[in-house]
Amino acid sequence: MPQKTKETPMMEQYLEYKKQFPDAFLFYRVGDFYEMFYDDAIKGSQILELTLTSRNKKADDSIPMCGVPHKAVESYIDTLVDKGYKVAVCDQLENPADAEGKMVKRGITRVVTPGTIMDNANQATENNYITAITNNKGAFGLAYADLSTGEVKVTSIDNQLGLINEMQNLNTKETVVLNTFPKKYLDPIRKLGILISRITDLEDNYSFDFSAVTDDSQVDTLKLLISYLIKTQMRSLDHLKAAQTYETSAYLLMDHNAQSNLELFKNIRTDKKSGTLLWLLDETKTAMGGRLLKQWLARPLIKANKLRDRQHIVQVFLDNYFQRASFQDYLTKVYDLERLAGRVAYGTVNGRDLIQLKTSLEQVPQIKSILLDIGDDQLSSYVEKIDDVADVRDLIDRAIVDEPPISVTGGGVIKEGYNDQLDQYTDASKNGKQWMAELKVKEQEVTGINNLKIGYNKVFGYYIEISRANIDKVPEGRYQRKQTLTNAERYITPELKEKESLILEAEDKSQALEYHLFDEIRAKVKKQIRRLQDLASILSELDVLQSFAIVSETYHYVAPDFVEGHQLKIVNGRHPVVEKVLGNNSYIPNDVTFDSETDVLLITGPNMSGKSTYMRQLALTVIMAQIGCFVPAEAATLPIFDHIFTRIGAADDLISGDSTFMVEMREANDALKNATKNSLVIFDELGRGTATYDGMALAQAIIEYIDKNVHAMTMFSTHYHELTVLESQLTGVKNVHVDASEEDGNLVFLHKVLPGPADKSYGIHVAKLAGLPDQVLTRADSILSKLESEGGAEIKASEDVIVAETKADMPVEEKPKKKTKKAQPDDGQLSLFPEDDPNMLKAK
Ligand code: ADP
Repeated sequence: MPQKTKETPMMEQYLEYKKQFPDAFLFYRVGDFYEMFYDDAIKGSQILELTLTSRNKKADDSIPMCGVPHKAVESYIDTLVDKGYKVAVCDQLENPADAEGKMVKRGITRVVTPGTIMDNANQATENNYITAITNNKGAFGLAYADLSTGEVKVTSIDNQLGLINEMQNLNTKETVVLNTFPKKYLDPIRKLGILISRITDLEDNYSFDFSAVTDDSQVDTLKLLISYLIKTQMRSLDHLKAAQTYETSAYLLMDHNAQSNLELFKNIRTDKKSGTLLWLLDETKTAMGGRLLKQWLARPLIKANKLRDRQHIVQVFLDNYFQRASFQDYLTKVYDLERLAGRVAYGTVNGRDLIQLKTSLEQVPQIKSILLDIGDDQLSSYVEKIDDVADVRDLIDRAIVDEPPISVTGGGVIKEGYNDQLDQYTDASKNGKQWMAELKVKEQEVTGINNLKIGYNKVFGYYIEISRANIDKVPEGRYQRKQTLTNAERYITPELKEKESLILEAEDKSQALEYHLFDEIRAKVKKQIRRLQDLASILSELDVLQSFAIVSETYHYVAPDFVEGHQLKIVNGRHPVVEKVLGNNSYIPNDVTFDSETDVLLITGPNMSGKSTYMRQLALTVIMAQIGCFVPAEAATLPIFDHIFTRIGAADDLISGDSTFMVEMREANDALKNATKNSLVIFDELGRGTATYDGMALAQAIIEYIDKNVHAMTMFSTHYHELTVLESQLTGVKNVHVDASEEDGNLVFLHKVLPGPADKSYGIHVAKLAGLPDQVLTRADSILSKLESEGGAEIKASEDVIVAETKADMPVEEKPKKKTKKAQPDDGQLSLFPEDDPNMLKAK
């Protein structure tokens, strides 16, 4: 920052604050504006589209500057934070009028950062997690918190990939590290668009409940996180719940690619929620239920007894339609208790929030009685634990008016009858106003001026106003003239002023008292935050379970049976999302069977027949089962899976810049190394990213490896038809195919999965469906029959020049004939190898 000459006192003060938060935009309050200076101004004016001006324009050391009006500041802050920046807000701490020529006292009142933003109304059903990471000889500590709900968790992760994966799953926008954190680990994190906030030292003076955390390095990670929150938030963090440790392996593991490939939260094509599993399952009635459902989906369980408990409650909801419906009605009236509790702790709660809190609490006794009424022991034991926090409800009911204003300082928030003193002030002000009304009538009579008015403004207080036309009628000496307007004169009387000061004093005092009372109420509610949070967590669980009931009922799902051992049977299973999208029963159900012998289902069938859908169907069914929901099938017997590995789709890895094939191989490697016999592996056309020989060889070797060493339940779809002979050579491999039939040379997809291999590849049929020119299709047909009869022959280009049909009049260039070369069809639709190529498929 340039500092050629001595700064003015104000700029000195500015630089002092800027030093405290060098990585944030400093919004510095001057009068009605928040100003930015120097680089902040240059960058800020670009991002926020503000006019860049300068301070001391004429001097050679002029300072770049831009500003935003203080009334609109929140939207500018939001824009910057949404784009991943931080903003430190420096406010005036005293009325500039009181500074008497000295520098106005200022101070940083808050720092808004992407990971700590609390009031983002658009993201009611999203958690906003801030993370902190520490490194200890290549192993990592990860702590995270959601400031708006108070959730705090910590874990240890032993490798970098796992760390990044967990951060992606948490969808964190910001992570805190110590200055000493090794740089080499930060690059991939930065590439994910996560803001990295560094701090140099830890705070040591604070109260936070670490008692459940026994691991020292985890405590250190938590201290880092909490220190950063203290530095940036500058207010009470009382609503943070006691930290909990977790192990990523205590849940069904899915890496971030699997979550995104299976479209749990985001539609790959549209990036929206629509068309995802979350979209299908989310019939929650509250924002907190919505958030919990997401957490459950991201971390399905691996304990059968817990899942059976959830299934039981879902069944109870299904069996008791009327109670459920009325429970849902009450639930709809429950606001976001978790976030309300957060705002209570932060001191940002206003009268309207408290009314929302009261309304929410009012539903609880009803909810309890409806649920107890059902008479199910398990549900009842759960419901009996609900504390309806009636004391807080009653307090708000006694104290706060039903429709309070947004502002908590302007009065009108506290109910009559709550506080005697306040009621007296209110009476005084009311009486005074009554007196004014009577005065008006009296003076109108005395003067005979019918349009005589009593008015009020901030400068002159109360006055009597008489229009110019009537001024002659004013009796001599009755009023004192105060102000002359074009059309009227304004007057006062000593009596009027006396009443005025009574009214104003009462109003002043009553506002001050109201604010004081409100603050007291806020503090009382704050003491009960834990209870509110506990209530929120029970209600959100019940919300998610009723949501499962709705979905299960609507789409006719069944409760899966969990069994031990290597076996799985799904009768007439469906892909829940495709089924919902297709509607009116047009989805063709399919069975899935893994007996104790089977490790790999080798799936063949033409493109577009439904192989990928069939595999995804199983993965989604497993996830639904392991969050406690019913599943899309007529019957389902499932083991509990520990990990789902996927290799689906063909996205390049944006973070590492690896090619599609490299990503494919990395994912395959991950599965082969880490899958256990309790894992589910989904490989969709593995090997298609490379040359045919390569791809097929790898596919075969991988299948053999799974069959011999891993024994994970694996679904492997392939267009390498030749692989189907593996069934006869490996005990763990079973062929299934998706049926298609040919009618008049056209392909008809039946979407039915049947035992055995597909008889044909149908690539050219699919090309025809896609509308490729006839000439291409005929030519492909003839190449195919030649290849099928001759084996992997050398390719020879057709002697006929193919003219583009649509641009028939384009001049055809004379090109030298292409050299013949070995074909490498990269989409694999067309197999170049005879079924019994002696080089392949020598599985033992
Ligand atoms: P593949 O993986 O064999 O190329 P997909 O699984 O992508 O084929 O399926 C292609 C389309 O067929 C899907 O988009 C879906 O609309 C439809 N489909 C797949 N399976 C079924 C089914 N069982 N019932 C009805 N339609 C299906």
